Amino acid sequence: MNDLIKQFNALDEKLKSMSYFLALVEFDGATTAPKKSFKERSIAISNLSQLYYQTLVNENTKKLFEDLDKLKNLDELTRDKIEYVKKEYIKTSIVPENEFSEYAKLQVLAGEAWENAFKNNDFKSFAPFLDKVIAYQKKLIEYKGYEANPYDALLDLYEADLTVEKCDLFFDKLKKEIVPLLAEISKNGKKIEEKIFNKSFDLDGQRKISDKLMELVHYDLDGGLLKESTHPFTTGLSKHDVRITTRFYENQVLSSVYSTIHESGHAIYDQSSKDEIGFSLANGGAYMGIHESQSRLYENNIGRSKGFTKILSELFKETYPELNETFKPEEVYEEINIVKPSLIRVEADELTYALHVLVRYEIEKEIFNSDIKVSELPALWNKKYKEYLGVEPQNDSEGILQDIHWSLGAFGYFPTYALGSAYACQFVAKMEEEIGFTSLVEKGELLEIKKWLNEKIHQYGSTKKPDFLIKNASGKDFDPSYYTDYLNKKYRELYEI
Ligand code: ZN
Repeated sequence: MNDLIKQFNALDEKLKSMSYFLALVEFDGATTAPKKSFKERSIAISNLSQLYYQTLVNENTKKLFEDLDKLKNLDELTRDKIEYVKKEYIKTSIVPENEFSEYAKLQVLAGEAWENAFKNNDFKSFAPFLDKVIAYQKKLIEYKGYEANPYDALLDLYEADLTVEKCDLFFDKLKKEIVPLLAEISKNGKKIEEKIFNKSFDLDGQRKISDKLMELVHYDLDGGLLKESTHPFTTGLSKHDVRITTRFYENQVLSSVYSTIHESGHAIYDQSSKDEIGFSLANGGAYMGIHESQSRLYENNIGRSKGFTKILSELFKETYPELNETFKPEEVYEEINIVKPSLIRVEADELTYALHVLVRYEIEKEIFNSDIKVSELPALWNKKYKEYLGVEPQNDSEGILQDIHWSLGAFGYFPTYALGSAYACQFVAKMEEEIGFTSLVEKGELLEIKKWLNEKIHQYGSTKKPDFLIKNASGKDFDPSYYTDYLNKKYRELYEI
């Protein structure tokens, strides 16, 4: 093997080892670490982040990337892997070292402040932290540079090459189609009652159902595990260690059901990179729109479909035999797809979900394109909820404080949630043509679906960008009509309008 490639692989492995420990300690922090541990954790994270920075950004790596650029005839995977790590180098090197590690510390402290503010419904106590996080993002935008819009610099961090221009086109289409559809449903739609899941389900049963669901979608639990956290999430440490979390509420059984399926969709992605990148920075999917397309595909296109409803009904019948009579598949299908404009994004139905994302997208765009103050954000939030969803928060915990993202500095992340749903519909349309998606779901043969996704998307980890993956899987460029057509068809039939 070429000496330079050896050097590169050693660097990649070292960086991956550090990011492995950073991710592990973050996973622990969100699941089992004791409450008081956050202060020392923030110091440990800050120091390890600094070490990561020094390993990645120095004269030797700069020279290494320059020399690698000159190499000819590299195989595709090696070339893509180098390209990805080089981008990581560029992204990191634009920020001065002390700011990089200080920011890692700020993220932990802001996360803690957010959690307290959320619990105590106290936006004021969180505002100074949010202010600092936004100031850092603005600096980052300047370091990174942008062509058309400052917010582009942040969007591109979560979905490569995403811009305000592309987002505006996408969200305008959603606004035009979803807002009137929602109005029609509330005015003329058939009334669907909440009677099956609107009761208490003991947690032991819910845990059993989650275990069965993970098995059913072929999430490999020899290389994964399930824990509990306030916000469900997935941590891909390496190809053979991908962990997920869910949450169990006695009175909201569907919350654990759909969180578990959703996170399993993420996990399957991260478990399925090619072996050659199993312990590389390029392992697992890094682009969040594409990542979210996988979790949403499992959660919605599979999990909320007619075919899957039959499987889910059987699962509930087995687990809660005393409620046997109530799980009729047609009624279960209606109830899991009930449309109800609400205040909380993570509990939103499939149709109104994108409107929750729209609110956040517009606010973020405003933050990075105007002088709006942090203290003005709650009122703006409430105004937009009223306008798009017709509901208004009574306090900030059910309003602007509900998401953890901004405390972590994840500005530019939210749009990927809605994009993911849209990509998923485009992939499903292609799978329908090639392997008969609907009938596979009906028969519970989900392995065929996983294999298709493995081949078209997962195997590449982070070595290919979203545009390539969308075309590779669906044969076409991104087209949001697949999503709006799917929503129109599904909800017009369901609500008989
Ligand atoms: Zn997700």
